[in-house]
Amino acid sequence: MPGTPAARVFPAGDTLDAVDLSVFFAGTGASSPSARRGLSATLLRAGGDRLLIDCGEGTQRQLVKSVGLPDLDAVFLTHLHADHWFGLPGMLKSFDLRDRSKPLEVYGPVGTKALLERVQPVFGRLGYPLDIEELDTDESLRFDEYRIKTFPTRHRGPSIGFQFVEDDRPGRFDAGEATRLGITPGPEFGQLQRGETVRGVEPSQVMGETRRGRRIVFTGDTRPSDATVVAAAGADLLVHEGTFASSEKDRAAETAHSTGAQAAQVAFDADVRLLAVTPIAARVHAGELEREVRGVFERAVVVRDFDEIELPLPDRGDPIHHRWSDRRRELAEAAGAGPAAERGAEPPGPSVETGAEQAEPAVPPEPVRSGI
Ligand SMILES: [Zn+2]
Repeated sequence: MPGTPAARVFPAGDTLDAVDLSVFFAGTGASSPSARRGLSATLLRAGGDRLLIDCGEGTQRQLVKSVGLPDLDAVFLTHLHADHWFGLPGMLKSFDLRDRSKPLEVYGPVGTKALLERVQPVFGRLGYPLDIEELDTDESLRFDEYRIKTFPTRHRGPSIGFQFVEDDRPGRFDAGEATRLGITPGPEFGQLQRGETVRGVEPSQVMGETRRGRRIVFTGDTRPSDATVVAAAGADLLVHEGTFASSEKDRAAETAHSTGAQAAQVAFDADVRLLAVTPIAARVHAGELEREVRGVFERAVVVRDFDEIELPLPDRGDPIHHRWSDRRRELAEAAGAGPAAERGAEPPGPSVETGAEQAEPAVPPEPVRSGI
């Protein structure tokens, strides 16, 4: 149904100012939550838009205790295993309890509609419109300044990945050159910037090269695949699952998951600017997994709950990874608590988080069952 679920349509190419763009990891655990990791949920912040990719059990709690529960514009489900959507009914109800009125769109693969209709009695009647749209593996949704496109992933059951594709921006306008060519500052400048020829002066004479928009790719659960390499080619950020360590490569294949090293190979083949690995299984040591990942592809991080990746415009710098532990310390210091007070009084955030993930908490290994 290409085009049908388009959220808001604005003219393309009218974006001169860059929007703030970041990815916040609300939950980074696979299968079952651990003391350290909530289940899959990733918040994409693009200007004023708030899009959630996957919504594992406990996601609203994860958000409330970190950045707050935003008035989401849309939710995107990569597939329908419980650890990727089970947080949605409660969240839908919370939106209702706080008198949300604007519509919420939920996009997912085939089966999403039937699934949410089955659990509708859990959240009851909502005071706002809930639009559920099922997407195929090659669709494109138009938002104000970007598109969300789908691509096929290789998991068990219907599954899709999502690409965030920001509109390209016009090249820089050379006002000096335009004046030299006899153009009068004012409306004529605008005409040239919009691509119109003005008294024989063509836009290409006064405009620099088009600046490409930013791109982010989210896989959800998947085996490594060529389709992901194609979708992620040259992306600013690839968010790829890496549920298992290399020692469990066979298990990853059996369950249609990836190892961290396989995610890194996809990132290498796609030549992305940064790879963020999530989710990972509770029994996997994140520090060791990160070493495996970086052995294949250096520009990579294994993210933890509440980490954030900020994406400046490509010509203004590389993606920036903010550890939640650092951000939390900054917040505590900004609040006047200082490092000493921070240790005494629990700041917001997971109580077991430490700066270095060398010592995983003593949580029992979580068996990875077939339903993830
Ligand atoms: Zn799954």
